Amino acid sequence: MASGQVAIGVDIGGTKIALALVDRSGRRLAERVLPTRPGDGPDAALDQIAQAVEVLRAGAPGPVAGVGIGSPGHVDPASGIVHYAVNLGWTDVPLRDGVRQRLGDDLPVWVHKDTNAAALGELYFGAARGCKDFVYLAIGTGLGGAAVAGGRLVTGLNAYAMEVGHLALYPEGRVCRCGLHGCAEAYVSGVGLVAGVRELASAYPHSTLAAQGDAVTTHAILDALEAGDPLAAAVMDQAAETLGMVMGACASLLNPARFILGGGLGHAAARFWIERAGAVFRRRVLPAARDGVTIVESTVSSSAAGASALVWHARTEREAPASPRE
Ligand SMILES: [Zn+2]
Repeated sequence: MASGQVAIGVDIGGTKIALALVDRSGRRLAERVLPTRPGDGPDAALDQIAQAVEVLRAGAPGPVAGVGIGSPGHVDPASGIVHYAVNLGWTDVPLRDGVRQRLGDDLPVWVHKDTNAAALGELYFGAARGCKDFVYLAIGTGLGGAAVAGGRLVTGLNAYAMEVGHLALYPEGRVCRCGLHGCAEAYVSGVGLVAGVRELASAYPHSTLAAQGDAVTTHAILDALEAGDPLAAAVMDQAAETLGMVMGACASLLNPARFILGGGLGHAAARFWIERAGAVFRRRVLPAARDGVTIVESTVSSSAAGASALVWHARTEREAPASPRE
C-alpha cells in the first residue's frame, strides 16, 4: 500500500488521551500520553491531539496512512462529530474535521466511539483475529459494547447500536445515570458495583465492605470477593447475572462466535466474568445461540493501538467490504 504501513491511534479517555504510532501488526512504535482537561474546552483538546499527532508523524519510519480516534460518548462516524460526551463535557464537537484542519494537509482522520475502536483493534490485532462475528464488551466505569457481524461493524441509524449498558433489563431496578430504570450498566460497571454494595450492605452487617460505607471502591470489592466476603459475592453475583443476560440478548440477536471482555473491570475480574456470567449466558439461550461460542479476555492492551485499526478498517470497508483480513 503506497500510502503507508503505519497509522496513528488516539484514544480519548476521561483522565488521559493516549496516542500511539502503530504498525499493521498492532505493534506500537512510539507513544504519547496527554492529560484530559475537560475544563479547557474541546478546542484545547483538539489542539493538543493535533500537536501530538504531528510529533508521532515526525518520528514515523515512513508515510502515515491516517489517524484513527476513539472517543467516549455518542459519536457519529459518518460526520466525525461527537454529539455528546458527558465525561468530557462535549456537545456537538466536530472532532474529525477539527483535528484534520489542524493537521493542515490531507492526512485522513476517522472517528468512532471508543468501544467500536476497541472492537476493531481486537479484530485486526487481538482476540478477534479471523473472527467475522463477535461482540466486544467493555466493563469499566460504565458498560459499553460493540459488534462485528459478517465482518462489518454494526453501527445503526444514529450510530447508537450496541449501547448494551442501557439495555433496561429490570423494570423495577436501580435508577441508571441515564435516568432509566434497571439498565445493565447500573449493575455491571464500577458505578454499579459500588451502588450494589450500598444497596445490599444492611443485609450483610459483618461484611468488611459494609463498614467502608461510601468510600468503597471497585478495587476493594474485588479484594473482598477474593477473601470470601459475602456482600462482595452477592454484588458480584448480581453483576454476573446481569452480564449473562446481556450476553444472552446479544447472542439471540446476533449469534456471535465470540464474546470478548475488555475494560478495566473486565480485565481485573476476567476469570470471574468468563465463568460466572458465561454460566448464566448458557442457561438463558437456546443451544443454537450458544453452541461453539467462546468467551475470552481482550488481548489488545493499548486503547491507542486499538484505535489505529480504524484506519485499516476504513480502507477495507471502501475496498472490499466483506473481508477485514489482510
Ligand atoms: Zn442507563
